[in-house]
Amino acid sequence: MNDRTRKLIAGNWKMNGFRHSIAELDAIIRALDDAAHAELWVFPPFTLIAEFAARAAASSLLIGAQNVHAEPCGARTGDISAEMLADAGAKAVIVGHSERRADCGETDEAVRAKAEAALRAGLEPVICVGETEAERDAGRAIEAVRRQLAGSLPGGGGFVVAYEPVWAIGTGRTPSRDEIAEMHAAIRAEIGGAARLLYGGSVKPQNAADLLMIPNVDGALVGGASLKAADFLAIARSARADASSRSAAS
Ligand code: PEP
Repeated sequence: MNDRTRKLIAGNWKMNGFRHSIAELDAIIRALDDAAHAELWVFPPFTLIAEFAARAAASSLLIGAQNVHAEPCGARTGDISAEMLADAGAKAVIVGHSERRADCGETDEAVRAKAEAALRAGLEPVICVGETEAERDAGRAIEAVRRQLAGSLPGGGGFVVAYEPVWAIGTGRTPSRDEIAEMHAAIRAEIGGAARLLYGGSVKPQNAADLLMIPNVDGALVGGASLKAADFLAIARSARADASSRSAAS
């Protein structure tokens, strides 16, 4: 699964999507051949995972979850384990999204436990890190992200890291090219060469090609713009533009 030569475009649907949203999923599946230069993952809400996974089973589209409990089973009302997600057909899970860190008080330690649980069940964790606006303004963005990495990453490999500046999520704002390049180089130095490193935060069809061309950006974690198949596929096609410009340059 860990192919850094192809961009990974991952869609985080957050708390959006109903059974009729299967139409969006089918549109993505139908277009997969055209998007073969990129790897596509979709993270629907828990309620749609089993149905989406069954629908995507014969295709290259991978279905994941947006959260997981660290324990395998037990008296945890309302929680869902990594083993249950795997049983439903999920292959990956987002952990440590800033919305969960902020809204549910998830600490780095809790995020690492969730990532370890995912690996235990054979799921690939997508571990989110990112500084707040105050941390960036204070010149402490890299320090804040390094601290999150140190606390949130499990030992060994098998994970994806998503750099998502908190102030860029859902705001239409993105860091500059140089800021992303600097942060991704700093994260790369911490995680080594094998893990994929995604950028997330207001990625849309209009800016995807530029963002995907930044060094050490192995793909994108996309929120709002992943809800419409047309936009999500347009972002995936931007990865093709990047692939052709790289092969033309070589
Ligand atoms: C996200 O929440 O993971 C995200 C990247 O959101 P958006 O693309 O809407 O900024």
